Amino acid sequence: MAKRDYYEVLGVSKTASDDEIKKAYRKLAMKYHPDRNPDNAEAEEKFKEAAEAYEVLSDDEKRSMYDRAGHSAFEGGYGGAGGGFGGFSAEDIFSQFGDIFGGAFGGGGRQQRQRRGSDLRYVMELTLEEAVKGVKKTITFTAPAPCETCDGKGSKNPNDVETCRTCHGAGQVRMQQGFFSVQQTCSTCRGQGKIIKNPCNSCHGSGVADRQQTLEVTIPAGVDNGDRVRLTGKGEAIRDGQAGDLYVEVVVREHEIFQRDGADLYMDVPVSIADAALGKEIEIPTLDGRVSLKIPEGTQTGKLFRLRAKGVRPVRSSMVGDLLCRIVVETPVNLNSRQRELLKELQASFDGDGHAASPKKKSFFDRLFD
Ligand SMILES: [Zn+2]
Ligand SMILES: [Zn+2]
Repeated sequence: MAKRDYYEVLGVSKTASDDEIKKAYRKLAMKYHPDRNPDNAEAEEKFKEAAEAYEVLSDDEKRSMYDRAGHSAFEGGYGGAGGGFGGFSAEDIFSQFGDIFGGAFGGGGRQQRQRRGSDLRYVMELTLEEAVKGVKKTITFTAPAPCETCDGKGSKNPNDVETCRTCHGAGQVRMQQGFFSVQQTCSTCRGQGKIIKNPCNSCHGSGVADRQQTLEVTIPAGVDNGDRVRLTGKGEAIRDGQAGDLYVEVVVREHEIFQRDGADLYMDVPVSIADAALGKEIEIPTLDGRVSLKIPEGTQTGKLFRLRAKGVRPVRSSMVGDLLCRIVVETPVNLNSRQRELLKELQASFDGDGHAASPKKKSFFDRLFD
């Protein structure tokens, strides 16, 4: 199946800023999050697709490679699934080059590379408060873990594990191909270097089994969308190798009042026409309690007030951002008869010398009739 263009996947243009890409990814990740779409294979596919696109487009280097070469930028050396390499794995290909070019790749002697399980990703949804203040959360997920029956050995009895006689435990065999001596994965033990005579019944010799796992994760204060916490060794477990890592990736839910932009927070502050016109000290919420904000006389809609150090301390910074309050003057509704009367009186008073009280309106009409 042809892969979709990463920009198309995220629904952004080729010139999208990092911020736009982040926002687009966040929207998709929320929409297709597995927690919200249980047992929905299509949503899971979309979720993975978006994560892959974001992984490339959020990294300047990978993004420019992708812009130059498209998907092939990341498939080149591996030849896809068996594409022309006769079923060699990526390691096989590299070890071939190692043989062909002799010592060109460091020392000549091929190092026995330790096998390692895959890294896993867990997407964690947080409220803005949790992201800003940090939080401990318990997560539950299913991943390959060492088989409990055989303790990850793969055999009923540890003595039943034998070194492979074909490759003498190396997992690789040397074959002559024309001028070249080529190393290939041993077919007797499939690269494991060992033969298990009586495989464990629970895991059939693999040494691992899918298991539901529960972990407590400490999210540091100040994280934002896309930040990741690494849990070493909590990824995919494999037999005779090192487990991969688990990455917990943060997605922050929209907040009803605050919007975050890096270290700063933005909020709309509704103000009555009377308070805006006459000025007033009002109380506004912050992420930790309330503070007072002085609205000066004659404040207009859109005016921004900055409250220093009432924003966020990002996880990799020592500076606390600001809280920016955008004033929205509200037109009064559901008036009682007394209020209506007062406003009519006010209206009448403007009709005479009203323009002076509405500076914007004055210049608007001045321009209109010029
Ligand atoms: Zn087992
Ligand atoms: Zn072997």
